[in-house]
Amino acid sequence: TPLESISFKEVILDTIQTLEEPIKKKDIKVYLDLEDASIEADKRDIEKLFKNIIENAIKYNKEQGSIWIQLKKKMNQTEIIIKDSGLGIPKDEMDRIFERFYRVNQFRRIPGTGLGLSIVKHIVNKYHGNISVESVENEFTKFIILL
Ligand code: ATP
Ligand code: MG
Repeated sequence: TPLESISFKEVILDTIQTLEEPIKKKDIKVYLDLEDASIEADKRDIEKLFKNIIENAIKYNKEQGSIWIQLKKKMNQTEIIIKDSGLGIPKDEMDRIFERFYRVNQFRRIPGTGLGLSIVKHIVNKYHGNISVESVENEFTKFIILL
């Protein structure tokens, strides 16, 4: 597929619209702080990336929780920060969440296959980006992506 110039903002807004139902169902507030930025990419990759990260931010959030999405232009890259007020990730499992089929033990009652973040990681690597995560159990999870 030929690469095209993709607006991050557009993809994020589309993704939120697609996920409107689960967002409303959980009464989650979404806060956006988005600078204009774009990337030369296959649009489907960028869509998949945001779908998986935002889906998790809803799924592992609390009722009436919040999601903050921030886009900041850096030198040659864009910094994307997605933070949720959810369950958080136990410290000793943080290194493993990007592995295929890995799921945090205590959240097993929440359905999933454990593939979402491995797909995200694969896409970030494909565009020579970087992804990191900070989390405090029962407080927040924050993904920081450089693309
Ligand atoms: P899938 O995305 O394939 O439907 P999944 O959500 O379980 O299934 P991943 O998206 O790869 O799989 O996430 C891996 C694990 O990391 C999850 O099972 C969950 O335990 C943890 N996790 C991911 N995102 C968050 C988040 N925002 N807050 C808390 N835990 C998270
Ligand atoms: Mg997931």
